[in-house]
Amino acid sequence: MSDTEFTHEYWMQHALTLAQRAWDEGEVPVGAVLVQDNRVIGEGWNRPIGRHDPTAHAEIMALRQGGMVLQNYRLLNTTLYVTLEPCIMCAGAMVHSRIGTLVFGARDAKTGAVGSLMNVPAHPGMNHHMQVIEGVLAPSCSALLSDFFRVRRLEKKAQKEASRKD
Ligand SMILES: [Zn+2]
Repeated sequence: MSDTEFTHEYWMQHALTLAQRAWDEGEVPVGAVLVQDNRVIGEGWNRPIGRHDPTAHAEIMALRQGGMVLQNYRLLNTTLYVTLEPCIMCAGAMVHSRIGTLVFGARDAKTGAVGSLMNVPAHPGMNHHMQVIEGVLAPSCSALLSDFFRVRRLEKKAQKEASRKD
């Protein structure tokens, strides 16, 4: 691994692999990885359905694991990579955890809270400001989501047609 270049794209690719795991579990495919000094300290993928937990977003899972690894609720000097623009809850958790940098892939026009629906990290009243980088591997990140929803629509349609035949 010594000659691996730890670029934003490298880590986002890792987050995409985790997003695929969410898909495999029947969850909306979003993945997140928390990095400190080129070391993974937290991984998460979206799993609210399986865990019966509305807070089980990829970012929250990665932040929780990072806290355990660092034995600190403040995740200073870390970078969180996530395939999709975070929601209000996750953006808020990032402020609380004091991450240094957020890197996200695709924008989420409906619920994105880092520039789309609103911009939580940039709010002037926030007591912590993180660096935000967006658009890393955005086409791959959004393609994974649109593929997932396309397949799900087809599956539902097939189910409907199958039940009509009964
Ligand atoms: Zn979220």
